[in-house]
Amino acid sequence: MKLSVLGSGSGGNSTFVRGGNTRVLIDAGFSARSVARRLEELGVDPDSIDAIVVTHEHGDHTAGVGVYARRHGTPIYMTDGTRAACARLLRGSETVVAYRPGRPFTIGDLRVEPFLTVHDAIDPVGVAVVDECTGLRLGVATDLGRPTVQIRHALSACDVLVLEANHDELLLHTSRYPASVKRRISSSHGHLSNQAAARLAIELMHPGLAGIVLAHLSSECNRPELAREVVGGALEKAGWQGHLDVAVQERPTGLLDVEMLRYRNGPSQLAFL
Ligand SMILES: [Zn+2]
Ligand SMILES: [Zn+2]
Repeated sequence: MKLSVLGSGSGGNSTFVRGGNTRVLIDAGFSARSVARRLEELGVDPDSIDAIVVTHEHGDHTAGVGVYARRHGTPIYMTDGTRAACARLLRGSETVVAYRPGRPFTIGDLRVEPFLTVHDAIDPVGVAVVDECTGLRLGVATDLGRPTVQIRHALSACDVLVLEANHDELLLHTSRYPASVKRRISSSHGHLSNQAAARLAIELMHPGLAGIVLAHLSSECNRPELAREVVGGALEKAGWQGHLDVAVQERPTGLLDVEMLRYRNGPSQLAFL
């Protein structure tokens, strides 16, 4: 399994996943042209994408979905609620496949397990993506106000996690945002802070967890080095020695090879077996 967060933050989110011969995008929140350019940077042909799985209707996750689907003939997977909420992006010529939170579905070699999150959207979901050839499991969870028992369960036993580290609690508190925006971001339907991401990551830690990519960083209330320091520092203290990456808005992360990460981390992960 290989993956790259093509870019992440309030200006757009998209994650590329490849398992076996199947390539999917989780969200396409940049213009279709920008998503294609980011894929090409990684050596991936934009026409080779088998599906776009949409997590919720917010523009930073759907901006390029309609145009991309029409331009490259890519099927879109989304819930009926999300489809209704972003109907203006669709022209009717796209292939749209409905899924339901809690009901896993298969796209080629990948099994997608969508689970409901807590966020101010119609049907917000996170996804676990399993490579059916290798059994490797990726969890993607951004845009969540708080981690529920169901979310923790869905993200357990992942080999790699893409996890939201939206804001630093102190920077949000002292930011220029109006009180209503601060309340919305830090509410149970808003976004996960660095501190909350650190707690969740430690809860989800297990010997097979080889990598974590922090994502959806706020440009106002966070910085990549701060997210890395807070979450990475807490994980290190807890004994984790996996690969930590921080996704930024402007460019894709490197193409992470999950098997390689697992292999590389093998001996050190034994420390807490
Ligand atoms: Zn959102
Ligand atoms: Zn978002």
